[in-house]
Amino acid sequence: MAKVELKKIGKVYEGNVRAVDDANITINDREFVVLVGPSGCGKSTTLRMVAGLEDITEGELSIDGKIVNDVPPKDRDIAMVFQNYALYPHMTVYENMAFGLRIRKLPKDEIDKRVRDAAKTLDIEKLLDRRPKQLSGGQRQRVAIGRAIVRNPKVFLFDEPLSNLDAKLRVQMRIELIELHDRLNATMIYVTHDQVEAMTMGTKIVVMRDGKVQQIGSPLYLYNQPINKFVAGFLGTPPMNFMTVKVVEEGGAVKVDEGSFVLTPAPAHQALLKPYVGKEVSFGIRPEDLPHSESRGQGTIPAKVNVVEPLGADINVYAATAKHSLTARLPPHHVFKAGEEIAFAPVMTKACYFDKESEVSILPVKWDEQA
Ligand code: ADP
Repeated sequence: MAKVELKKIGKVYEGNVRAVDDANITINDREFVVLVGPSGCGKSTTLRMVAGLEDITEGELSIDGKIVNDVPPKDRDIAMVFQNYALYPHMTVYENMAFGLRIRKLPKDEIDKRVRDAAKTLDIEKLLDRRPKQLSGGQRQRVAIGRAIVRNPKVFLFDEPLSNLDAKLRVQMRIELIELHDRLNATMIYVTHDQVEAMTMGTKIVVMRDGKVQQIGSPLYLYNQPINKFVAGFLGTPPMNFMTVKVVEEGGAVKVDEGSFVLTPAPAHQALLKPYVGKEVSFGIRPEDLPHSESRGQGTIPAKVNVVEPLGADINVYAATAKHSLTARLPPHHVFKAGEEIAFAPVMTKACYFDKESEVSILPVKWDEQA
């Protein structure tokens, strides 16, 4: 299959709109890479530059070592699946899948074989004679993917392909796409604004913001070792809690003081926080790392419960300290009530710390896990 490399890629649209700035991304052979970020961060533009649908303003794009900046889309050996399927309404499923191959003048037998193989892979063999309007949303999505598969491309590109589907179908198609990736062993680049899709589907995630790549790595690397407050807050639901704390030195130990409580960071983190003694930093802790504590005092966060959200398998407790709101995800054994005084015992080895001005992680992490 194929390796795709973006080197210092930039895009400036007419009217001097900068959509992508200095993107350096390597998509290795057979990787499933997800570009994720809020709306307008430049992920679709990046994908469209790989597809050849947008001119590249700056930098170098290569596929399998060959620079393709000026190669037209049809010669890039890439297939793209869009959000709005773009199926031809007057053609059957079979014809929709065969159309691109006919244009390329493939022999009839070969076209038939490819369409039937793809239909089998996607479990839509029984639908080959139907027209798009006789299909459900999920079936249409499969046909759109089938049209990409028959081309046997080096690289598959997906632009928010699941966003028109309802929640249940989205979860099912997510699993199907992961299985499809395993079966086809293909290089895939997938764009979404949905961090759950990114976390569950990507073998590698690229988080973008305002046209800039923030961090690249496996889902769990980014989740556990975010490079800045943005990545930390973007991945995970409910999101990471952030509290402004002052770094202090007490009896030889480095501690963090929120005003209403004092915590002792893990020993390795204390050393890294030492240069910040006397300054404020942002303390980050995920909801699942805030277990309930029966006792108060040393090492706990006292708070008052505002809202309790029972989800069945666990409970989200929305609470507030004297200064900050926070969310804890707790096991469902204990019933908490709004207004109740509670204490949490944060798992300090899992805490993150960010510079208050730059919002960059104070703990050492890589911007690209593989670099
Ligand atoms: P995303 O896919 O992350 O939502 P896009 O790549 O679509 O973001 O857009 C990135 C930025 O570029 C946005 O500010 C958007 O308004 C701008 N943009 C996108 N397409 C065009 C265009 N054809 N002309 C001018 N600006 C555009």
